[in-house]
Amino acid sequence: MIKKDVIIIGGGPAGSSCALKLKEYGFDTLILDKHEFPRLKLCAGWITPRVYQLLNMDEYPNGIIEFNRMHIHYYTNKNKEIKFTTKTKQYSIRRYEFDHWLLKKSGSDFMVHEVKKIEQIDGYYIIDDKFQSKYLVGAGGTHCPVFRTFFKEINPRSKDYQIGALEIEFPYEYTDRDCYLWFCENSLPGYSWYVPKENGYLNIGLGAFSHKLGDKSLKWHFDYFVEKLKKIGLLKHFDHEPKGHTYYLREPVKKVYYNNACIIGDSAGLATKDLGEGIGPAIESGIKAASWIALKKELDLSDIPELSIYEFGLKGKIIYYLLRIYNMLSINP
Ligand SMILES: Cc1cc2nc3c(=O)[nH]c(=O)nc-3n(C[C@H](O)[C@H](O)[C@H](O)COP(=O)(O)OP(=O)(O)OC[C@H]3O[C@@H](n4cnc5c(N)ncnc54)[C@H](O)[C@@H]3O)c2cc1C
Repeated sequence: MIKKDVIIIGGGPAGSSCALKLKEYGFDTLILDKHEFPRLKLCAGWITPRVYQLLNMDEYPNGIIEFNRMHIHYYTNKNKEIKFTTKTKQYSIRRYEFDHWLLKKSGSDFMVHEVKKIEQIDGYYIIDDKFQSKYLVGAGGTHCPVFRTFFKEINPRSKDYQIGALEIEFPYEYTDRDCYLWFCENSLPGYSWYVPKENGYLNIGLGAFSHKLGDKSLKWHFDYFVEKLKKIGLLKHFDHEPKGHTYYLREPVKKVYYNNACIIGDSAGLATKDLGEGIGPAIESGIKAASWIALKKELDLSDIPELSIYEFGLKGKIIYYLLRIYNMLSINP
């Protein structure tokens, strides 16, 4: 049996930031992840200045692009396009590199292991009869086994907050280094994106509320999107198959800890409810979980920002209200 103070399931941004902070408090942690790192993670890889600052990314050793403006296209319910460019300061990274960098930076012990069974015996968590810890952190994303074992009933996820996404990241000699977003085109209850990455990679994709998709599938929207990118000159050729993933946007915060186990990041469904930005909330919740364990602070995730749009200034707020008018958001904050 391998014994640790804290076992963290999942080595994404939530798990690694929790381990990083716990190390500062002198805790012995083990991260278990079903994949060896670096690993593929479906994500546009857009990060905010808040993430940059939280992780002190001045020393980031991999490619990073700073966007000083973003091109926003919004479609009305008659599919009429309204477009504008907004000044901003945002970044793009490749998750393949970023997650690996953060895992190493955490300094935590790490093992490749797919967690299947978790039991609580005599105050300890026993994982697959092989690992034992006093504290257990569920950072395994949408399909996190800690969520499944201890939180599914006390903190059920509502389908109303489920996002389906299709995307692909591939080597591409793009000529335009700006970031573009298209909201609600062809009544898509979500948005599509064009996000260039440093060192010749491009990420394109789209995400939408699953329960609000009408008769057109996500794949239909994706194929349309690719043809559109070709038409407007952002893509010359494309022969890739996109991959799909689902995750959950932020619901009113419920129970995120139970005995000595907690859930953070996508496992707790923390992505922002306007743009589905989940990296920042994953990191902030990881840091808070570390304080909960080390300093016995209440684990309260309610002050983690639930909207991304305020990062984009006045024009960003205008889009947000347009989205609300269009009823794209399932809730009114
Ligand atoms: C297509 C798409 C685009 C996105 N774009 C953005 C974006 O541009 N910006 C942004 O901020 N957010 C974006 N998001 C959301 C963001 O990717 C997530 O919110 C974020 O990755 C959550 O981090 P996490 O650490 O909670 O989970 P994850 O990053 O999913 O990490 C979970 C880890 O747990 C491991 N794991 C799972 N099950 C087990 C198991 N049983 N045993 C062991 N290990 C396990 C997995 O292998 C994985 O490494 C996007 C999401 C999608 C789907």
